Amino acid sequence: MSLSSNAPPSSAADAAPLHPIYAELVTQLAADLSAVTSEPALRTVHARYLGKDGEIRKRLAEALRAAPGPEKRTIGQAGNTALSRGEELFAARLNALHDAARGADLARSVDVTLPGRRTRLGGLHLLTQVRRELESIFAEIGFVVASGPQVESEFYNFEALAMPDDHPARDMQDTFYLQSPPLPGSTGGRLVLRTHTSPVQIRTMLAQPPPVRIIAPGKVYRKDDDPTHSPMFNQIEGLVVDDGVSFADLKGTLLYFARRFFGPSVDIRLRPSFFPFTEPSAEVDVTCVFCQQKGCRLCKGTGYIEILGCGMVDTAVFAHVDAERQRRGLPPAYDPENVSGFAFGMGIDRMAMLRYGVNDLRLLFAGDARFTQMFR
Ligand SMILES: [Zn+2]
Repeated sequence: MSLSSNAPPSSAADAAPLHPIYAELVTQLAADLSAVTSEPALRTVHARYLGKDGEIRKRLAEALRAAPGPEKRTIGQAGNTALSRGEELFAARLNALHDAARGADLARSVDVTLPGRRTRLGGLHLLTQVRRELESIFAEIGFVVASGPQVESEFYNFEALAMPDDHPARDMQDTFYLQSPPLPGSTGGRLVLRTHTSPVQIRTMLAQPPPVRIIAPGKVYRKDDDPTHSPMFNQIEGLVVDDGVSFADLKGTLLYFARRFFGPSVDIRLRPSFFPFTEPSAEVDVTCVFCQQKGCRLCKGTGYIEILGCGMVDTAVFAHVDAERQRRGLPPAYDPENVSGFAFGMGIDRMAMLRYGVNDLRLLFAGDARFTQMFR
């Protein structure tokens, strides 16, 4: 809003010429008025020129005193004209300031009458949701959650799991080594970003005697990068060690899991396989939930989808654990004559992809809100 929408201050000054005694004072008043931008300052200017002891009245009194008798009337009238001209200038400037303030008020970008903005609640990432679901399914049958460090020594990540330096399985887990020296007091070996969560199994068995019934979820690292492999992914592994644990227990546990996670109608099938730390070992497939085994793109026409690997814990693993327990002054507790156990492991990411039909693993890690918001 422009200040000129009201009569500009100069319009009054431009009216009939003032008596020379007052003209200069009123011109100064007009200049001072237009120089101020606040109402208090404006009123100070008013008092200085137009007040009871203001400049114009002082000039009037001086002029009256000095003037010869016949001129006193003219000078008095001219003084009153000057005063009322000054008041007009003051009123115009006051109006202009009010208009400017109102204009600024209307031009504010914040409209305080609009309803408030709702705070948007966040949600759990799909992987967190699936991990929690997996944890709770296994908790139903007595498993507790265990965790361990993502930077591991070769001992925990490989050797204790029956994968010595020259073992060919280590090539399949071509990994990320750290340049730092081994941790003080550790069993040795270089430091590595763990390639599976299995080191948590070793740590648990070193820390406690049987019975053991844990699941270990967490991030693991391998040198892979394509639509179905990422250098970092999430695994969840299970370990059960007790007196008289059998392969039937393993199969029953996995069937329970598969039906809780994929639905009560699914079945599982075990295929012989190899892992360095289990013997015998198996890959586990679940009947395809997308085509009811008629064959589809997701099961590649086979009616089955691979979901995890598993097996009975290799006695060599127990031997490594007991040797390390003895080295630490702990009593041996994992004599294969007395205990047996099974282990299994699966990708949390893969479970999420299968369950929700996500076709590119990298979507799970990209942090794109358009994707993550689909699973709120
Ligand atoms: Zn299918």
